[in-house]
Amino acid sequence: MAQLYDRVALIGLGLIAGSLFHAMKRAGLAGEVVGYARSAETRDVAREIGLCDRVVDSVAEAVEGADLVILCVPVGAMGAVAAEIAPHLKQGALVSDVGSTKGAVIEAVAPHLPDGVHFIPAHPLAGTEQSGPRSGFAELFDNRWCLLTPLDGTDPEVLERYKELWRQMGSNVDEMDAPHHDLVLAVTSHTPHLIAYTMVGVADDLGRVTDSEVVQYSAAGFRDFTRIAASDPTMWRDVFLANKDATLEILGRFTEELFALQRAIRTGDGEHLHDYFTRTRAIRRGIIEAGQDTDVPNFGRNAK
Ligand code: NAP
Repeated sequence: MAQLYDRVALIGLGLIAGSLFHAMKRAGLAGEVVGYARSAETRDVAREIGLCDRVVDSVAEAVEGADLVILCVPVGAMGAVAAEIAPHLKQGALVSDVGSTKGAVIEAVAPHLPDGVHFIPAHPLAGTEQSGPRSGFAELFDNRWCLLTPLDGTDPEVLERYKELWRQMGSNVDEMDAPHHDLVLAVTSHTPHLIAYTMVGVADDLGRVTDSEVVQYSAAGFRDFTRIAASDPTMWRDVFLANKDATLEILGRFTEELFALQRAIRTGDGEHLHDYFTRTRAIRRGIIEAGQDTDVPNFGRNAK
C-alpha cells in the first residue's frame, strides 16, 4: 500500500498510539514513526517492545521534521502538550489528536498552533479497557468508525490524505462538527461509562451482598459493566470534565427515564415496561445490522 506520510510523530504511547503504530506499519502508511511519552518508564517499555521505529526523550525531537503529529494523551493534557510541541513543528505539518471529546480539545489545542500548520481533530471509536504501551494492536481500528471534526477552512487535500490514512488503517471515516460529536458520544459512550462506573460502585457498597458473591455470580450484564468500569481513571475523569454539558444533558434525560421505569415497576405497569423494552430491542438489532456488533449469544464472548 502507498506510503502517505514520510515521518509521523506519536505523542503519548498508550493503547491508541500503540494501535496507530501497528496499524500504520501493517499497511505501510508511514516511512518512519517516532514516539515520545512523558515518563522514562513508558519510553523504556516502548523501546523494549519495538513500539515505534524510534523512541526519543523530548517532544522537540519527536515532532522535528514530522509531516504528521498525533496527540495520544488524555484530553486534559492536550493543551499543555500542544504548547510544548508548537515551537518545533515543521511548516505544512498536520497536527491531529485522538481525544474522546472534541470541543474542549479544539479549544485547548488550536490557539497554540502556529500559522502554516494544519489541525484536524479526530476520534477513533475504538478502544478497550486496557491502557499503556503494551496494550495496542494493529486490528483495533478495523471496521470501527473514526470521526473527524475539521475546522472551517481546512485544506481539502490535507483532509483527504488524513482520511485515507484512517481508511487504510481499517476504519470507516465520517465528519461532523465538534458540538454534535460531543453530544453523540455523550449518548453512545460517555454516559454509558458513567452508568457502568455507578453500577459497579453500587455493588461494591452494598453490604448485604458480599464482594465474593458479586464476583462469583456476576451475570453477563454486570460482567460487562465491570469491564467498562475497569477503564483508565485518568482518561475518563478528563472525558467527563471536558464533555460536561453534553454529558449532563444526557444524564438528565437518563434520570427522567429511569424514574419513569421505577414508577412503572412500583405501580405494576407491565405494559409500560414491555413497550419500553421492545423499543430498545430494536436499537440493538440496528447496531447488529450496521455491522458494529454480533448477534452471537453473549455478544460472542465466552460465557465463563
Ligand atoms: P493510555 O493508554 O493511558 O496512554 C496515555 C498516554 O498519555 C501515556 O503515554 C501517558 O504517558 C500519556 N500521558 C498521560 N497523562 C499525561 C500528561 N498529563 N501529559 C503528557 N502525557 C500524558 O491512553 P489511551 O487509551 O491511549 O488514550 C489516549 C487518548 O485517546 C485519550 O485522549 C483518550 O480520550 C483517547 N481515546 C481512548 C480510547 C480508549 O478506549 N482507550 C478510545 C478512543 C480515544 P506515561 O505513560 O508516560 O504516563
